[in-house]
Amino acid sequence: MKISTFNIRPIKPEEIDTAAELLAAAYYDDIFFKWCVDDDSHRSKIVSEYYKIYLSSKGCVAHVAQSSDSDMEIVGVSVWLPRETEEGMYEAINNVVADYAPQFDAVANRSHMNEPITGPFYQLVGFGVAKKLQGIGLGHALLKYHIDILDKAGIPTYLEASTPYYGGGVYGKFGYKPFGELMVFTDTAVLYPLYRQAKETSINKKTAFIYDESYFWHNAGEGALYEPDGGYLEPGTYIESPKIKRRFKNLLQKSGLMDKLEKIKPIVATEEHLEYFHTKRHIENVKQLSNGDGGNCGDSAIVGRGSYEIAKLSVGGAIAAVRAVSENNLINKAFVLTRPPGHHAESDRGMGFCIFNNAVIAAKYATKNLGIKKILILDWDAHHGNGTEDAFYEDDSVLFISLHQDNLEPIGRGRKEHTGKGKGVGFTINIPLHAGSGDAVYKYAFEQIVIPAAERFKPELVIVSAGQDTSIFDPLARMMVSVAGYRDMTIMAKGIADKHAQGRIVILHEGGYCPSYVPFCSHAIVEELSGIYTDVGDPFIYAVAGTSYQELMPHQKERVEEIRDFLDLS
Ligand SMILES: [Zn+2]
Repeated sequence: MKISTFNIRPIKPEEIDTAAELLAAAYYDDIFFKWCVDDDSHRSKIVSEYYKIYLSSKGCVAHVAQSSDSDMEIVGVSVWLPRETEEGMYEAINNVVADYAPQFDAVANRSHMNEPITGPFYQLVGFGVAKKLQGIGLGHALLKYHIDILDKAGIPTYLEASTPYYGGGVYGKFGYKPFGELMVFTDTAVLYPLYRQAKETSINKKTAFIYDESYFWHNAGEGALYEPDGGYLEPGTYIESPKIKRRFKNLLQKSGLMDKLEKIKPIVATEEHLEYFHTKRHIENVKQLSNGDGGNCGDSAIVGRGSYEIAKLSVGGAIAAVRAVSENNLINKAFVLTRPPGHHAESDRGMGFCIFNNAVIAAKYATKNLGIKKILILDWDAHHGNGTEDAFYEDDSVLFISLHQDNLEPIGRGRKEHTGKGKGVGFTINIPLHAGSGDAVYKYAFEQIVIPAAERFKPELVIVSAGQDTSIFDPLARMMVSVAGYRDMTIMAKGIADKHAQGRIVILHEGGYCPSYVPFCSHAIVEELSGIYTDVGDPFIYAVAGTSYQELMPHQKERVEEIRDFLDLS
């Protein structure tokens, strides 16, 4: 066993990159993920998500912690194992500790081993290293030992190094609950997990961002709200304006997040791709309107001059995304800034600003060409994803789940009783929520319905129709989701992908009509998707802090439970 010679004193934030490289170089050649968080507002979520991944793997977390305010500058190493771990494993690791014990001035927290096991996992070993023995890599050497043993037993292993700690002892004063359902650190100034098994989970892979400048050139005309000019109001800006999504794109650039994403160009979808779902009549109609002076290709679906080519690029962005997450070994998450959006588009006509159905065609592309058999399409746009539902209503290879404002648009669609037809029965789930539903309602609906349904279905790919018109400031709907709510939904959708779909998730931007708030909502989604954080927050939420957007009120809870019980997801 090699003893590393790098110093493992508390690491300063500016030293993280170097430290991570040293760690990786010393023991983990195949680590290429590192993760740094030093922002209070994100910390607990990151840790929670991390442990969710861990828990779902039924694996092991090895945790290295350091503290500098005690005499000893303790280094602690602990290994957490699921409860069902074989007794023999416990013994094996314990023997390793015993071998080292004489070299330690203190063995911290051994008593943990004797505590009642109340959580889903327990800490197996923990110990301290005297100051005089620090800097020779004992802690990491021991960790390596643990991991080798666990590897041989086929237990996936994750390494997390968290530092600096100033809690006065490795475990005692950090304020986390070691035996809770999830451990939540409350005093971690810097956190950077290093992830080991690249091919098995997602967090070490990159996030693609896909858009094309011409997405902003699709001209849906002038108007007032969703009606074109010509009424009593003076001509104005149509609600589906390129400005909103362009602002989001520019925010990504301003924050620096764009620089850290993998930029992929959309392909140009072919007519064959469009015909996966759409009729030749509709395609031809769009083409002719686009070549002429434009017009409506259905219900509130304006085709501008040249929009046919742009709509094909929008579909092609979604196709490029499913290809990337399926075929590119380094990418498993993608965000597509689709415009025009797609989820209302029906086979024979456009609808609600949607010309072609990006999500449907991408899903069909994945099943036809990428060998993916089961896809979850999760639609959190405030309006019902009627076009997507139509496409897969009799299909058991796609689980379509739509959360939307009850009976908003299209009227009569998205009722809970609409659950599919033929072999598709049970593979459409509609969650019509009361107007006024906010963060807590969506979270509850995910917990009670979306996650259990996904658990049962076990998708191989997750596609999200992300409409940020569920936002608290949106002019076209009356829901109350905040930036924080979008973070939650993204984390949960990603959790589903991580657990079942090797992390493969594609998020398509559908609606969202508040020009000032959508950019922040979508930016937060990309942050959570990629695991890369900036200092962009939520500049507007203070104005509604006194409202009920974060609450789960009785009638809202009742609605979610009524749908859950109706669906019988047990
Ligand atoms: Zn919408």
